[in-house]
Amino acid sequence: MGIDPRDRRIAKLLLWIRQNGRCHYCGDYLDPPDMTIDHMTPRCLGGADALANMAGACYRCNQEKHERRYWNYLRYRRKRGEVI
Ligand SMILES: [Zn+2]
Repeated sequence: MGIDPRDRRIAKLLLWIRQNGRCHYCGDYLDPPDMTIDHMTPRCLGGADALANMAGACYRCNQEKHERRYWNYLRYRRKRGEVI
């Protein structure tokens, strides 16, 4: 069951508040409209379209993570020498 598109804006705002306006992955500050919704377990891999499975991310990180699972993406970034 998906989230109503009207609720998506609210979900975004909740994520923005939860993360103090920062990207979950790189920590960059984002203006609320620039935050994208990342599904930590991608929907194509069975992840729920629910707040518990969402992280707010900048466009760049979300694109890069793409269809990776959350932990795989963190491992990928750590290999690149980034501390998360
Ligand atoms: Zn980012």
